[in-house]
Amino acid sequence: MSDRIAVAGIDVSPDHFIGGERVASDRTFTDLSPIDEQPLGEIARGGQREADLAVAAAQAAFPAWAALGPAGRAEHLHRLADLIDANVERLARVECVDMAMLLRSLKARLINRGARNYRSYADLAVAYEERVWDSNGTHNRVVRMPSGPAVVITPWNAPFMLSTWKTAPALAAGCTVILKPAEWSPLSCSLLADLTVEAGFPPGVFNVVQGIGEEVGAALVSHPGVRRVSFTGSPETARHIGVAAAQNIVPFTGELGGKGPLLVFEDCDLEAAARKAAGQFDDAGQVCLAGTRLLVQGSIADAFLERFHRFSDEHVLGDPRADDTTVTPLIHRDHFERVAGFVDRARANGDEIVRGGRPAEQGGLFYEPTLVLPRSNESEIVQREVFGPVLTFQTFEDEDHGVALANSTPYGLSGIVYTGSAERAERVGRALRAGVIWVNTFLVRDLTAPFGGIGISGIGREGGDFALDFYSDLKSIQVAEGTTA
Ligand code: NAD
Repeated sequence: MSDRIAVAGIDVSPDHFIGGERVASDRTFTDLSPIDEQPLGEIARGGQREADLAVAAAQAAFPAWAALGPAGRAEHLHRLADLIDANVERLARVECVDMAMLLRSLKARLINRGARNYRSYADLAVAYEERVWDSNGTHNRVVRMPSGPAVVITPWNAPFMLSTWKTAPALAAGCTVILKPAEWSPLSCSLLADLTVEAGFPPGVFNVVQGIGEEVGAALVSHPGVRRVSFTGSPETARHIGVAAAQNIVPFTGELGGKGPLLVFEDCDLEAAARKAAGQFDDAGQVCLAGTRLLVQGSIADAFLERFHRFSDEHVLGDPRADDTTVTPLIHRDHFERVAGFVDRARANGDEIVRGGRPAEQGGLFYEPTLVLPRSNESEIVQREVFGPVLTFQTFEDEDHGVALANSTPYGLSGIVYTGSAERAERVGRALRAGVIWVNTFLVRDLTAPFGGIGISGIGREGGDFALDFYSDLKSIQVAEGTTA
């Protein structure tokens, strides 16, 4: 076991958490803070050995966890949720330094959402009503069986929220879990492991393995002892993981990247639409659900742009811990280069950069909020996810044209629509090819609703009963009428 490291004044274990114990590795990787690119600590770098240990621990813990039933598991999950609420400040401070997400968003929204995730799935699993009916001379019922150890792989953005979003239904459904957080922001998930101990989780029910995706991540998703693979990250990685899961004939869900349209119709509240569009630069645009393609009806294009620039001028690039900051540094130097590369190629392609388009004067990993007028809808900057503070602006003539542009990329995660017409909201909402649509709002979620993407934005659905079904083996039982006890 390694010494704990102090991050934002809080002690965090750099080790794995396997079978209820902290486990070190021979090798480590350096975790950097995006705020100043300085090291936060040396983190255990797992490989095949750690994957084997974690799967064995999850397998050993599975029968007793499954046998607890939804109500027994819910007691644990509620205790964990209460502990998250009691530790919001600590979790937020560590994640802020590790990922450079805005501290006030973490404190107000994202960490508490972890508690909400555990509570809502615990309650939903308890409330499950088995389908029961009679047909063909038999009495039929559909029951959920916990499926076994589940591997959960999460990305570097909002790591705590996304890891709880995925592990909550797995645990509630009776799976044991091996969580592999992203190597660029591994720390808040290590604190989560500590909280499971405090919450009295039996050893092996919840495991965290740290390390590089292509190393321990690949070893986990291809492990024959695993019964479910749940992934959030890029479509490129999903292709590898999907193949690995398929080799073992294991169900796999992928919540993947997005290139969401933000459609602005001439009948909308233009101030609200332009404010929301400028808000897509928040958190440096490192949000999969962001509406990064601004599609604005031609008749209001000038009026929209005037407002958009006015609201964008209000952004403050700065330290994510400061109250007035709205745009944070990017996560890592490699990602910064990737974002800058997209904009440089757009410029070379003849796309017009009308705002930003350069590393910001703040230096470090700050990139200017950028607006691009693409030369064509086929431009790379329109068709590929940048995952940074870079938006494109295009106009459309009428509703059909707007919808056609919105649906013209290989992605289909989310869509945002601004309109004053309920009829249009209904028509466009149905016509958009995406898994989540918001009309005159953004990011509001009911956790029982299905969540996921279309096209290269995802496979499968999480959220509510959809997630609980994914982590269960559904079984139908037919009993002949007249069977007596
Ligand atoms: P990524 O695909 O590079 O990595 C995600 C995770 O996969 C990391 O933990 C990484 O270590 C691991 N990994 C990498 N290669 C692996 C392999 N061969 N086997 C197993 N694991 C492997 O993604 P990222 O850069 O961390 O995250 C950004 C992406 O995630 C963006 O595309 C973003 O849109 C997407 N995202 C989607 C959602 C959603 O809900 N749909 C939410 C957040 C982020």
